[in-house]
Amino acid sequence: MSECLFCRIARKEIPSAVVYEDDELLAFKDIGPQAPVHVLIIPKAHCEGLNDLTPEVEQAAARIPAVAAKLAQEFGIATSGYRLIANTGADAGQTVFHLHFHLLGGKAMGGKLCQ
Ligand code: 5GP
Ligand code: ZN
Repeated sequence: MSECLFCRIARKEIPSAVVYEDDELLAFKDIGPQAPVHVLIIPKAHCEGLNDLTPEVEQAAARIPAVAAKLAQEFGIATSGYRLIANTGADAGQTVFHLHFHLLGGKAMGGKLCQ
């Protein structure tokens, strides 16, 4: 069994505030929210990040934008706007090495993605 943090969250060994789940994907609230809406969307199968996609994870992750759009509707940010971001590697500040997409919204985030 993987000791990876997000694998453990996917297996429900570590509690999280789940907002969406299907056979392949899980979405849960970020523990340190950087916006009023801050959700992490992950494939349940382990993969370190975008550089390490397997065919299985690629197929599952292809549905993440649609899940993000559905969650944006549910959280009332579809019209006001949101970001969907996958930090990859050191320069991007990736800290958890299980592929995840941040869904961020609920406030004006400005134009700067690189600071
Ligand atoms: P990264 O920096 O790798 O792009 O994003 C990792 C994210 O995971 C961070 O925003 C961090 O707050 C979140 N995070 C880290 N540990 C936990 C945890 O145990 N539970 C939840 N829900 N989020 C976590
Ligand atoms: Zn993992």
